[in-house]
Amino acid sequence: MSAQILNGNKFRDQIYAELRYHISALLARGIRPGLATVLVGENPASKMYVASKIAACELLGLKSWNHTPIASSTTEELLGLIDSLNKNKQIDGILVQLPLPPHVDSKRILESVNPAKDVDGFHPTNLGRLVTGQPGLVACTPSGVMEILLRSGIKIEGANAVVVGRSDIVGKPMALLLLHANATVTVCHSKTRDLPGTIRGADIVVAAMGRPGMIAADWIKPGATVIDVGTTRVTDAAQAESLFVNFPERLAKFREKGFAVVGDVHPDAVQVAGAITPVPGGVGPLTIAMLMSNTVKAAELGRGTPKPYVEEYPTRKRSSPAIN
Ligand code: NDP
Repeated sequence: MSAQILNGNKFRDQIYAELRYHISALLARGIRPGLATVLVGENPASKMYVASKIAACELLGLKSWNHTPIASSTTEELLGLIDSLNKNKQIDGILVQLPLPPHVDSKRILESVNPAKDVDGFHPTNLGRLVTGQPGLVACTPSGVMEILLRSGIKIEGANAVVVGRSDIVGKPMALLLLHANATVTVCHSKTRDLPGTIRGADIVVAAMGRPGMIAADWIKPGATVIDVGTTRVTDAAQAESLFVNFPERLAKFREKGFAVVGDVHPDAVQVAGAITPVPGGVGPLTIAMLMSNTVKAAELGRGTPKPYVEEYPTRKRSSPAIN
């Protein structure tokens, strides 16, 4: 048996097609949704992430501004910048790329973003709205995972869902979204006593640890849905060999490039799972798609759209005949 591959690029393209409809309606009213990014310093990975977010804005015709304060910028200076972005009526979404330099008070910076423009969904107001089930801006990666599940027709209601990882930006909001969708949710972390045993009981596993290949194939219940959020760049040859023992093409690519991007789930799990996201090409594309989606949503809500985008998506299948 080989699992159904849940292709994130396909779902991203569906979401972009739907967003284009909403964006043209806004353009017809003279409104071009706008995203401001704040990239502090020279972190190469952060630069790459911001560049792909801006490229997505350009692809969809959104306006974007990339602010690049120097690494030595103070918390006060950054607060001043966020204040000006909060006041700018052309800007619908503000994204502060993390991590911020260690001397900056990240918490104060994130809390200074107007919750209505908080397209990353990190502001305590938006997190509180998520806890209480009120509409708001939800963190992009967990909402992207929900899109994958919904659009694949995976039954969530009544399913045993195990979320591995409890970060504020992935694990916790993920668990809440699954709970709101009526799954029975277990959240695991580094102090969980029996991780393999807990995962073995799961109909849906969402792995968000950053521990490459740690979740072994025999931890997965046959037929379960596996969503692998983990993204780690592996450069160690012995590690790559143990991960790609049954994937000679991936091993050859690793040897050619000197690195491979891998998830938290061992690639052999594809033989056991019912459906699985690949890494790369699974959850990653959805994270940017949901950022675009949140920016359009913020524009619609913030600029008084009579019928904002919370309507049902046409390509979503909300029920499936069987549980996984
Ligand atoms: P964090 O480091 O903030 O959190 C990791 C979580 O995993 C923690 O809750 C930690 O537990 C738990 N954990 C670590 N080791 C173990 C273990 N051995 N057993 C059980 N639990 C463990 O990471 P993030 O949530 O920010 O990201 C998680 C992964 O997702 C990373 O690989 C990241 O790169 C990736 N990611 C991918 C995105 C995408 O778009 N594809 C977007 C965002 C993240 P504890 O709390 O006890 O320390």
